[in-house]
Amino acid sequence: MKVICCDVCQSFIPLSSVWQQCRCGNISGVYLSDGLHAQVVIEDKTRGRVIGVPNSIRYGFKREDTCWVFKETSDRIDFLKEHPK
Ligand SMILES: [Zn+2]
Repeated sequence: MKVICCDVCQSFIPLSSVWQQCRCGNISGVYLSDGLHAQVVIEDKTRGRVIGVPNSIRYGFKREDTCWVFKETSDRIDFLKEHPK
């Protein structure tokens, strides 16, 4: 699963099929209809990121695993300049 994280307002929000935004608006995003790819907008990239959480952790099958930060070059996330209209 993908979680958007904002250092400005300390939000930590799992993406869903509905557009989600942190409290201050620095980061927002949505899963696309395939449930795998996402669109994300980050105003201040030094203070926001998308974190990948393994499903094994999300669903409790394992107690330990590695999370990661998605790079801007990720083929799973379109980092957009602004919210699509
Ligand atoms: Zn924020």
